[in-house]
Amino acid sequence: MVSQRLQTVPASGTIAISNLVSQMKAEGIDIVSFSMGEPDFTTPSNIIDAACDSLHAGFTHYTPSTGIPELRAAIADYTKRNDNVPCDASNVLVTPTKQAIFMTCLAYIDPGDEVILPDPSWVSYEACVRLAGGVPVYIPTRFEDGFVVDPALIEQAITPRTRMIILNTPTNPTGAVIPKETLKQIADIAIKHDIKVMSDEIYSAIIYEGKHTSMASFPGMFEHTILISGLSKTFAMTGWRLGWAIAPAEDIKNINKLQSHSISCCTSFVQKAAVEALTGPQKSKFDMVAAFRKRRDLALDLISEIPGMECNVPNGAFYLFPKYNKDIPSAKLAEILLKEGHVAVTPGTAFGPGGEGFFRISYATSEDQIQEGIARIRKVLADL
Ligand code: GLU
Repeated sequence: MVSQRLQTVPASGTIAISNLVSQMKAEGIDIVSFSMGEPDFTTPSNIIDAACDSLHAGFTHYTPSTGIPELRAAIADYTKRNDNVPCDASNVLVTPTKQAIFMTCLAYIDPGDEVILPDPSWVSYEACVRLAGGVPVYIPTRFEDGFVVDPALIEQAITPRTRMIILNTPTNPTGAVIPKETLKQIADIAIKHDIKVMSDEIYSAIIYEGKHTSMASFPGMFEHTILISGLSKTFAMTGWRLGWAIAPAEDIKNINKLQSHSISCCTSFVQKAAVEALTGPQKSKFDMVAAFRKRRDLALDLISEIPGMECNVPNGAFYLFPKYNKDIPSAKLAEILLKEGHVAVTPGTAFGPGGEGFFRISYATSEDQIQEGIARIRKVLADL
């Protein structure tokens, strides 16, 4: 019998679909996959070279559990320069992004503590809260509002048990970007009620109008924020498993306790490659964002031609979250799309109850695949 803790969560919905897609592809089935949030680009060659060079130089041993000093400094500089966050190397813990989220929940949530998060939200926040014994408190967001969370609803949901607010902007699964004024209102609420915000800003570089605002950049907010980010999406480095948490030094010490008892440290030569990613040429990052924008526009055009489908124009990340007009649960629709249409999407309900009636398309794939995949969706919906 597994632990009661484990029984509180299902396996990750995003990973489950991507595993299924891999299996179907291995069986020779031609699948168009819009499932995994993963850039299709190869990691830029300067970053690959830095990893290879460090391997050949014998940089193959444990590193300090918090990360190599030059990487901690590079992450702090990068975040300060790009997002105006008042941090230095002592505020950085080098760790895979999902590990940072998991450890933050374990470090700060006690059994019965409430954690406020928007609905829909990326699948693993709820799971990490539950695994820590916490109670997820969903705040509904609406298609009509572009899925931007309403700060008044956050404040209404606060009780003496509220321990944390989880935010993610640009947002997975909707692509929404929370406007600066809205973030400021949430920051004021967090400061007033002395609540921590875990702010997942992994998509901060993938934004199509204006500039990303970090939660940790508001006056007085750094002390209340655990800022989470990483290399996976920005530099097409999903397989390298490298990210970070930025927070007051005391929080970093606390979270590092968990790191020291679990993964010890991140892969040594990947840390060297990460220094190159953050301090080397940035052109490929901008080229990838330009490609994502073209793909977003193409996918939106094609979806707008499907009778009965509606979609917001998202301003960030690489996801669309269209609404369909069939009376069929999103999990069932995703199954039909995959089995009959050979096109993989993630059902909206993988991201919380508010995702019913929607599905997620990750458009971080080629224009040809986008054309073909949306044509398949159109056909399946027409036949239903
Ligand atoms: N974050 C990506 C997604 O939502 C990768 C899979 C995962 O970590 O859930 O598809």
